[in-house]
Amino acid sequence: MEDVARYQVGDFEIAVISDGEIRLDGGAVFGLVPRVMWEPIIGPDNVDAEHRIPQGLNCMLVRRGDEIVLVETGMGNKHGPQVREKMFPGDYGYLLERLGKLGVRPEDVTAVANTHLHADHCGWNTVRRGEDLVPTFPNARYYVQAGEYEAATHPNERTRGTYFEENFVPLEESGQLELVTGEHQVLPGLHFLPTPGHTADHASIVLSSNGETAIYTGDLVHHEVQMERPAWIAAFDVMPLVSLETKKVLAERAIRENALLICVHNSYPGVGRLTETDGKRRFVPA
Ligand SMILES: [Zn+2]
Repeated sequence: MEDVARYQVGDFEIAVISDGEIRLDGGAVFGLVPRVMWEPIIGPDNVDAEHRIPQGLNCMLVRRGDEIVLVETGMGNKHGPQVREKMFPGDYGYLLERLGKLGVRPEDVTAVANTHLHADHCGWNTVRRGEDLVPTFPNARYYVQAGEYEAATHPNERTRGTYFEENFVPLEESGQLELVTGEHQVLPGLHFLPTPGHTADHASIVLSSNGETAIYTGDLVHHEVQMERPAWIAAFDVMPLVSLETKKVLAERAIRENALLICVHNSYPGVGRLTETDGKRRFVPA
């Protein structure tokens, strides 16, 4: 990542900061869609010998006045070889360093918001300090949907693989965790939007200011083509048919409001707008 992608949405300043990149199984990212259909879109050169494809880790920094909100925190730096080599191979762990280059120190961050608590979305929520796990951002309130926290702390056989307690339980212990419901407003103009499907309580983050809208999608999509084609649903989604309906509603809104879409797993910076011409939808990079 050379230059930092920046956008202005009303009176919010946005910077997209990548924690790096992971490589995930292409079949898992595209679910029922056969490889002959997704491979030309990804580009054959982007599929490795293990059938994995690159996935960005785009986090969003939002500033207005003294408020500094970080949406998502990537993979982090706490992982051992099992995670680094098998579950989430890739090149990551750069978020703090890149925040530093923007002049943002951990203690400056006033709020952290997670769309959900899978390991690739909240890794930098905490860091190891000696024997302890502590919140990375000592002065931040950490916002997450209450239902997601419940699911993360009580996983089942299907969901347990990617909920790592070390990323979120220390926040409860330090008293920094804010469990919220529905369209909770973190700041005036910055709120959660429940977008269920990937998980039951998955939520996107919406910025609205001076008639402009930006939506941080979270795992509603893993690749921009899934914004254009709602039936292309990741195998990761625990409620795929709910994802489908959620995505249709969000896509309509994105077109209507000409919303800036920030997509976590797109290649950097992963920002664009959804347009519709003659019934054909296209994700147009911003
Ligand atoms: Zn993800």
